[in-house]
Amino acid sequence: MNLFGLIGYPLSHSFSKQYFSEKFLREGILNCRYELFPLESVEALLPLLQSKPNLRGLNVTIPYKQAVIPYLDDLDRQTAARIGAVNTIKRYEDGSTKGYNTDYYGFKTSLEEWLERRGESCKDLKALVLGNGGAAKAVTTALDDLQTDYRVVSRTPREHELAYGDLTLDILSDFRLLINTTPLGMSPNLDSCPPIPYTFISNKHLLYDLVYNPAETTFLKKGAQQGAATMNGLNMLYLQAEKSWSIWNEADREE
Ligand code: NAP
Repeated sequence: MNLFGLIGYPLSHSFSKQYFSEKFLREGILNCRYELFPLESVEALLPLLQSKPNLRGLNVTIPYKQAVIPYLDDLDRQTAARIGAVNTIKRYEDGSTKGYNTDYYGFKTSLEEWLERRGESCKDLKALVLGNGGAAKAVTTALDDLQTDYRVVSRTPREHELAYGDLTLDILSDFRLLINTTPLGMSPNLDSCPPIPYTFISNKHLLYDLVYNPAETTFLKKGAQQGAATMNGLNMLYLQAEKSWSIWNEADREE
């Protein structure tokens, strides 16, 4: 039996456990199981790995996406090392571990597919990334790789970043892709949304919300009312989960 699972704390409800359990059933994968491992401290990772030699791969969630890094043998250079956060761990036959960030892949692929469907080019668009937490780092790394020009908008802007109060009509006419990486609007806080001037949004804008619950956040609803195209984070969520699965099943190291 190959074991996979999720580490984090606390782990109340988990998309990943439901997703992989349903996938194993649907696809007749009988030799795999997905379990929750709520770890009270990140130091508990190594004893967990030692006690479960059949543990092939892990997803990582809050609060350990960064804290787990010193406990891993290797980091994927294209994603985890650049982003500074791990959401997927692969464990090799020899017991060694490598961290990846599949949020990067989920965001990048979902954005590319969406823009292609709309006849837009990543290189011609300018983006505003709302919020500057862990998810934003995966988003900005993907935007770098897509050669999409972007500015980060933060409540406490650092150099080269914008404050919400800086978002004038001129800026919003220039930056047509708006990406919400804040938790604003996520259930149960359905009425909250990023504090941007929605009256400057038009049918030339594209609004991408990483939040997927509810399917239509207030951010997306307000954008749609102004004629903007909208997409939520559900496709990203599925793509990052499938990318974890393919990483766990890669035969060996790519080096
Ligand atoms: P986080 O670190 O808690 O927050 C991200 C950033 O949002 C913060 O650093 C902050 O940026 C801003 N923010 C937080 N509270 C705010 C408020 N009250 N008003 C304005 N800005 C606020 O969260 P995260 O881990 O990056 O995740 C962000 C969201 O993305 C979550 O809803 C998560 O569920 C979602 N997500 C979705 C996927 C997917 O697959 N669809 C993957 C990863 C994450 P500033 O301090 O710079 O303003």
